[in-house]
Amino acid sequence: MKVYIKGLNACAMRREKLVQYREFLAANDHTLVESPEVSDAILLWTCAFRADHRDSSLEQIRYYLDNYNAKVVVTGCLPDIAPESIDFNPDRVVVANWKEDIKKLDDAFLPGRSLATFRVVYTEERLCEDAALYRRSNPGKDATFHDQFNKILVSEGCNFKCSYCSERLAFPLYRSIPLEELYAECLKKCHETGVYDVILLADSLGQYGNDIGTDFPSLIRKLATVHPNMRFAFNNLHLSSFLEFIGEMKSFIADGLIKHLNLPIQSGSDKILRRMNRLYTKGDVEMVFGLLNSLGFKAFDTHILVGFPGETEADFDETLDILTRYRPQYALVSKYMESLNAPSAKLSDKVDDETVWRRLRRIENLLSDAGIICNCDGSELSTNRIARLKQV
Ligand code: SF4
Repeated sequence: MKVYIKGLNACAMRREKLVQYREFLAANDHTLVESPEVSDAILLWTCAFRADHRDSSLEQIRYYLDNYNAKVVVTGCLPDIAPESIDFNPDRVVVANWKEDIKKLDDAFLPGRSLATFRVVYTEERLCEDAALYRRSNPGKDATFHDQFNKILVSEGCNFKCSYCSERLAFPLYRSIPLEELYAECLKKCHETGVYDVILLADSLGQYGNDIGTDFPSLIRKLATVHPNMRFAFNNLHLSSFLEFIGEMKSFIADGLIKHLNLPIQSGSDKILRRMNRLYTKGDVEMVFGLLNSLGFKAFDTHILVGFPGETEADFDETLDILTRYRPQYALVSKYMESLNAPSAKLSDKVDDETVWRRLRRIENLLSDAGIICNCDGSELSTNRIARLKQV
């Protein structure tokens, strides 16, 4: 079969899956084509971490069905995050959700070798030093903050149980890549490129190693021996993990090993943090962000959820206060998206849509006045990104 593959994933982590799918198809005598025009099958990796990306993935499925004769294979996160939205003609659409992709893609492509036998240690070399500059000089080309680093995927999945989390519905079991394999691939990539700035990709970085008898600090200590200039960006580090390893985190910062920290907090209100089951308090957030400020460590960003069930104006004000007081460089601000199979769907006191949009505009304006980059639903930053992801 001639197969066209399209990744609509907002995150960098799932590029690993696209590499795995490409190797699987090529090794099983299918032909990868660059245009959907000439394809027999169009394989879409869908994303639904937020309502705007969910809606974009749905619109893209319809677009390919309406404009091409090929069978559309819907993979990725959308089928498990919003199963109720997957309502397409089964004669034209095959659904191969991430958690069951081995069986469903094996059935769809009848391979000699099963998808299960294709596992890569995903690394990717740095694309650019400045993603914004790269985008200006390469209109239409996609580049994000992550592309300013050599990338390595260290694990997939998450064992935290946040009540709102839609992505957990799509994640397979937590899987850490073995330490020695990561070291070998990181060494190879850094020496090949001469770049020693490395972003560690994971859905829950701090839980690295829990399933293979090691831990996150051991990973950092090992990878730090690749070269004296190694500096890391930590992606998706839960604040509880920072607290769990606070001694090591302080020494990594003091040793200049950390170039950037992504620390999602989601809210600044204790009541909302409890309802989200985030396992830390507002006081913990103040302590950690205060520590970073006191160390002069400015290179950190966070994620915020707006409109979580029960969120009052006062709760929201607490979140705004945390952001303007401790000043992360960037905030991924997401409108609360209800996933029917997530525990938060059963919570009372839902916040009406008009109020949530008003709060989104308020946080967007406040952060931009404070010089903090805000990527929220409906923002120019988000709209442009989705447009780039959709480029054929
Ligand atoms: S839902 Fe999350 S994990 Fe899945 S592709 Fe989107 S951003 Fe990545």
